[in-house]
Amino acid sequence: MFDLIPLIKTIGYLGIFGIVFAESGLFIGFFLPGDSLIFTAGFLASQGFLNIWNLVFLIFIGAVIGDSFGYAFGKKVGPMIFKREDSFLFHKDNLNKAKVFYEKYGGKAIILARFMPGIRTFAPILAGVGRMHYSKFLSFNIIGGALWGIGLPLLGYYLGNVVPNIDRYIVLIVLFIIFISVSPMIWHILKDKNARGRILNALRAKTKYAGKLIVFNWKMNPETLESAIDMAKKGDHKNIVIVPPFVFIEEIGKIIKKAKLGAQDLFYKDAGGGSFTGEISASELINLGVKYVIVGHSERRAMGESNEIISSKIKTALDNGLIPILCVGESLEQRNAGKTNEIIQFQLSTALSNLKLITSNFQLIIAYEPIWAIGTGNNCSPEDALKMIEFIKNTLLTFNFKLPTKILYGGSVNPENINDFLKYKEIDGVLVGGASLNPELFF
Ligand code: PEP
Repeated sequence: MFDLIPLIKTIGYLGIFGIVFAESGLFIGFFLPGDSLIFTAGFLASQGFLNIWNLVFLIFIGAVIGDSFGYAFGKKVGPMIFKREDSFLFHKDNLNKAKVFYEKYGGKAIILARFMPGIRTFAPILAGVGRMHYSKFLSFNIIGGALWGIGLPLLGYYLGNVVPNIDRYIVLIVLFIIFISVSPMIWHILKDKNARGRILNALRAKTKYAGKLIVFNWKMNPETLESAIDMAKKGDHKNIVIVPPFVFIEEIGKIIKKAKLGAQDLFYKDAGGGSFTGEISASELINLGVKYVIVGHSERRAMGESNEIISSKIKTALDNGLIPILCVGESLEQRNAGKTNEIIQFQLSTALSNLKLITSNFQLIIAYEPIWAIGTGNNCSPEDALKMIEFIKNTLLTFNFKLPTKILYGGSVNPENINDFLKYKEIDGVLVGGASLNPELFF
């Protein structure tokens, strides 16, 4: 940005024309300098490097043709893109919204967008997508193009002529122009509560769970694919593992873009097909794009799953390239009897007993899930969870266990208390059951 003077001297009229054209209507041009470029070019004209009338003529033409090109592109390509009803960005709904918007505010938008970096490039494309009437578009394009493409260089030219040594302040002036250009946009965003909320949410979603792993275990929910798809879209964020019931895995795998896919269980043998009615193999899961698999959940242990079976499942998962999420946890009676550590140690040592192949290509997740906290609304205190997680880490050390391991807490985690756990660097993430059925509340 600050090397505009040598840049303009190098690229000359043709280069300025090209940048203005690209910036006005080519998708790829949105990052190019605009206001600052044409203002500085006007200033250079005042210093005799360019002819001001040739300059404003070329900028004006480049701006108007660029916008028209963007419009034509949007009109042609828009309907093709927006046919894909269910993609995140390109939804038919957005096409209709663009139509309504440009019918109502099209003229004003085309003129104002000229002065807003980034928006300048997308406004004419969207006007085409929204099928704004072309003659109306062209008239506002010409007005906006003239105000911007003639006005700003003339301002640079005028100041260059009347203010002595203005080149010393050119950087400041350019920064001021950029500030003035973006301030209507910022003002608009700040005064609109919804837009403000959306931006804050987007920022939070980006940073909130960074470096942590959040596993959404939907258990035997929901009942329909439609609801599952809706939930998956809402939970589709980085650092999230969505674990739907088996019947929805394939469809959810197609929906999610940022989240990873998990399964709630797997068959304990590496069978590669076979007569095991009702079971699902590791390779079947892998073929559906599953990365994580929960093993030894207390709800399955309560149905009779033994530590030996759990141990085989862990090995089968690792052998097939799945990342197991091994659940361990004590019951209330065991806790009250002071046997928590003993129980956890036993569950870990049996579950991991099969792992002779210790290589760093594998990863293991352990979820400390006290049974009394699961689905009860009565979560373990974050301090107690922290102690248990440290205990698990130390126990693994005594096993001389070298797989990279993350340790999560699970048990009545919800959007209100999640950060009480995640604030500890030792807690690598959380496993969420019931509350994950409303994923939007976490972002
Ligand atoms: C779970 O299913 O492992 C779990 C932790 O459930 P909830 O969050 O509902 O307690």
